[in-house]
Amino acid sequence: MSSAKRRKNEMRCPYCGSTVIYRSAEGIYRENSSGVMLYVCARYPKCDAYVRVHAGTKKPVGTMANRELRELRNKAHRTFDQIHKSGIMTREEAYMWLSNMLSLPLSQTHIGNFGEYYCEVVLKESQKLLEKAKENS
Ligand SMILES: [Zn+2]
Repeated sequence: MSSAKRRKNEMRCPYCGSTVIYRSAEGIYRENSSGVMLYVCARYPKCDAYVRVHAGTKKPVGTMANRELRELRNKAHRTFDQIHKSGIMTREEAYMWLSNMLSLPLSQTHIGNFGEYYCEVVLKESQKLLEKAKENS
């Protein structure tokens, strides 16, 4: 493999630029009974950026995130999920709504890839929608 090719395929930490290590979540997750695998910044725990992979693959579920962004994404996702869990929309409709609202193609509408700004918008707009639905019921 040429070095150019290797550089292209190598994942780098978006926070500090360090190399990224594929490893078990052991020692990072409080419990890892299901054997979750992660991409973790080589400077962990100094740099707290990581992302888990889809079970049984080496494919990351999103982009690497530090604690702050992970918590924001979780919060945004939990709030957004209430839209389809409460039956206001189907899951498909909810993602359509989200992609329209953010002007993103559906294929790129993954909260796991969003940075702080998009997460804040998801959170705010989802809350607004949920409140409006509550008023109308
Ligand atoms: Zn890092």
